[in-house]
Order: sequence, then structure tokens, then C-alpha cells
Amino acid sequence: MAKETKTLEEKARQLLQERGVSVKDITKLVLFLQKKYLPELTLEEASESVDAVLSKREVHNAILTGIQLDILAEEKALIQPLQDIIEEDEGLYGIDEIMALSIVNVYGTIGFTNYGYIDKVKPGILADLNSHEDNHVHTFLDDIVGAIAASAASRLAHSYPDKAHEITQ
Ligand code: MG
Repeated sequence: MAKETKTLEEKARQLLQERGVSVKDITKLVLFLQKKYLPELTLEEASESVDAVLSKREVHNAILTGIQLDILAEEKALIQPLQDIIEEDEGLYGIDEIMALSIVNVYGTIGFTNYGYIDKVKPGILADLNSHEDNHVHTFLDDIVGAIAASAASRLAHSYPDKAHEITQ
């Protein structure tokens, strides 16, 4: 039993990696969100902010729950009609976005704005997760990754308060 016990954070990070998302992929999304407002932002600084977000229990819970549902959908193990809805990533479902909000909620209104924006534009890894090209289901993961990036960007906005007002616009 003890052998299998990983901390929530270790398990969440392992699952992200196994599902094809690296910390670097998320860091690039943070730079995408902040390049206009914090052009001097380094990869290292952005990466530290992603790590800080990945240390929060709310984030671990969302990662574990969302990825578990994605995996169950791939295995066709969900009850109908939920199976079809999640497998087909139906636009009107909306619970994947709600789960993502449990992450950005920790970081205030800038987090919501950033999440809405990146969810619309879908740069980088978010486009890959949304391609629906293979048999993988990433209905929950794309929103979770977008929310982690939006939250990391919001932390940075809060640490540069003189520029924060521009970021909310
Ligand atoms: Mg989704």
C-alpha cells in the first residue's frame, strides 16, 4: 500500500506527463499570454510560476479528476449518454470548463480573463489537445492545461502590480 502512495502533486505531474503535457508546454502558454504586458518575462520566471500553480491542492484535484474522466471515456467505460458527450467533446457540455474554473478561481478575476482568452485562441499544446486526430480523449485536459497557464500568468500579473491593470483589459 505504502509503495503506491504518491503525493497528490507527484501523481498529478505524472499524469500530465503521461497524457503528453510537459511543464515547458504550459510555460510557453504563459509566455504567450504575457508577452504583450511583460516582454522581459523569462522562460525561467514563467516556469517557476507554473510550478507554483502545480503545488496547489485544488489544481491536483482537478488534474486527477479530469484526466480520470478522459481515460474512462477512452476506455468507453462511462455511462450513456455521458460516454458519447465526453468522447465527442460536445460543445454544450460545459462541465470541463467549470472544472477549469476551480483552478483559476484561486487567482482572482485576472485568472478568469486569461482563461477565457486562451480557451478561445488555443495556442500551442492546446491546439494539439484539441485536434481530435487520434483515439485520445482530452475533453477535460485541454481546459485544465489552459487554466493552469492562465493561473500562472495571473500570478505574474499580481507580482507586477503597476502593469496589472493593463493585463485585465
Ligand atoms: Mg474541453
